Amino acid sequence: MPSASVQAFLTEVEQQLGASCLKTDPDLISTHLIDWRGRYQGRAPAVLFPGSTDQVAQVVRLAAKHRVGLVPQGGNTGLTGASVPDDSGDQVVISLTKLQAIRAVDAANKTMTLEAGVTLAKAQDEADALGLLFPLTLPSRGSATIGGNLATNCGGTAVLRYGNARALCLGLEVVTATGEIWSGLRGLRKDNTGYDLRDLFIGSEGTLGIITAAVLALSPKPAALMTALAKVPSVESAVGLLGLAQKKGAAQLTGFELMTKPALSLVSQYFPVLAQPIQGMGSADLVLLEISSPTGEVEAVGLLEDILSEAYESGLVQDALVAQSIQQAQTFWDIRDHITLASSEDGHQIKHDIGLPISCIPDFMVSMQKELEALLPGTRIINFGHLGDGNLHYNLACPINPNVWSDRNRRHEACKQFMQRLEEEAHHRVHNRVVSLGGSISAEHGLGVMRRDEAARYKGPVEMGLMRSIKTALDPLNILNPGKVVLV
Ligand SMILES: Cc1cc2nc3c(=O)[nH]c(=O)nc-3n(C[C@H](O)[C@H](O)[C@H](O)COP(=O)(O)OP(=O)(O)OC[C@H]3O[C@@H](n4cnc5c(N)ncnc54)[C@H](O)[C@@H]3O)c2cc1C
Repeated sequence: MPSASVQAFLTEVEQQLGASCLKTDPDLISTHLIDWRGRYQGRAPAVLFPGSTDQVAQVVRLAAKHRVGLVPQGGNTGLTGASVPDDSGDQVVISLTKLQAIRAVDAANKTMTLEAGVTLAKAQDEADALGLLFPLTLPSRGSATIGGNLATNCGGTAVLRYGNARALCLGLEVVTATGEIWSGLRGLRKDNTGYDLRDLFIGSEGTLGIITAAVLALSPKPAALMTALAKVPSVESAVGLLGLAQKKGAAQLTGFELMTKPALSLVSQYFPVLAQPIQGMGSADLVLLEISSPTGEVEAVGLLEDILSEAYESGLVQDALVAQSIQQAQTFWDIRDHITLASSEDGHQIKHDIGLPISCIPDFMVSMQKELEALLPGTRIINFGHLGDGNLHYNLACPINPNVWSDRNRRHEACKQFMQRLEEEAHHRVHNRVVSLGGSISAEHGLGVMRRDEAARYKGPVEMGLMRSIKTALDPLNILNPGKVVLV
């Protein structure tokens, strides 16, 4: 049973917003209480679905009155347990998915103002209909929402050229922890009028305010996009290829993704049809390069071929496949986009989302592999990601046990046990090395609950003190996503 204050809160929400605004049926709300990876399972008596910014503000005012913790949620695709409640049963989920309006478009200013519940895929389509580009892109774009993208300051596969979510947002509308509405929906590329509140809310994972709308910055649509897969003899070569592609392509290099052999073998195993394009390339580490051109396909192909032939001559690349059509380019991206899904099918893994100076990546990989092979014999290092940004998803999968592998349930159980037994130690090893090299333990997914305590180990008292001061200044009653990012 929820506490008396939660019950009083829900009664008032129903009175003020109407019964259609909340769901309490356990069957109907169960998917809102577990995270995408199935790692964090919380409890909550209700999920609220306000339909406007005013209704969000009303809910927050009532939550403040009754001291009830609210967990903002968009598409629930987050990967750090930040979008689901804890297991107390006294937190309430507030879904922003009913906030669906495209409020304004300004093609000349290249901006679009839309509400937090619009999915990333819809935002991309809306920009496309204007003849413009909203370049943020993630494999989860069909479900992830703009509110969630901004609350996590997500990255994705186009950061190299266009920046992360923060760089693509010019203004915000936010409901504060006291239930007031801050209207900062400015479409300005320059605005130095004091503390940057927008930047404070972006990346705060729902702990400082609830984002209800945003002004997104759009870009001109390139005339052509060309994609290639390059087989590289080592990660050092991949870093060399990146330098060459940046020198020759400059800002026209819009994507540079690394997919190591073990990551690709998961796609081959669980999505064999998708892996067909790379069958002739043998078992190898691959880089996916994307070049965009303001003039057209001929120029893009020319640039890509120029980069690849020089890379081939200097031994950085052993083989390459240039997409012959948009459809074929999509098949290349499908391979990349399915690594996370194939990993889920394989079973639980020990996950890392690390950021490193690109120059340190080859040494990191060699030395880390040695250390992990000694610590976790047989572990499979599923390493892939946004090499162009220095961001790798450096995940550790359970050694293959032929006795259980063909049975999905037994495989998943074995992976779960592997993870539970070794996760903490593996995190420390990987994160210690990352931090010693000047890196980050969360390049794009955020802290949530998964990396909250780990981040506190590395940040030091001054940084943690400042973070706590910000949280208590903006949310003195600790009602917004309590327990996530930083403990107060
Ligand atoms: C297959 C797959 C691939 C992915 N690839 C990437 C990737 O390449 N790069 C990357 O960065 N991430 C990636 N992600 C993670 C995830 O998709 C992103 O973090 C995304 O931005 C989350 O959006 P969401 O709407 O699902 O947010 P949710 O998961 O619902 O919430 C995430 C966080 O934001 C908060 N929140 C949500 N909406 C609001 C709001 N309106 N106001 C305030 N706080 C809010 C929540 O409380 C929570 O803290 C991937 C996930 C999956 C499943």
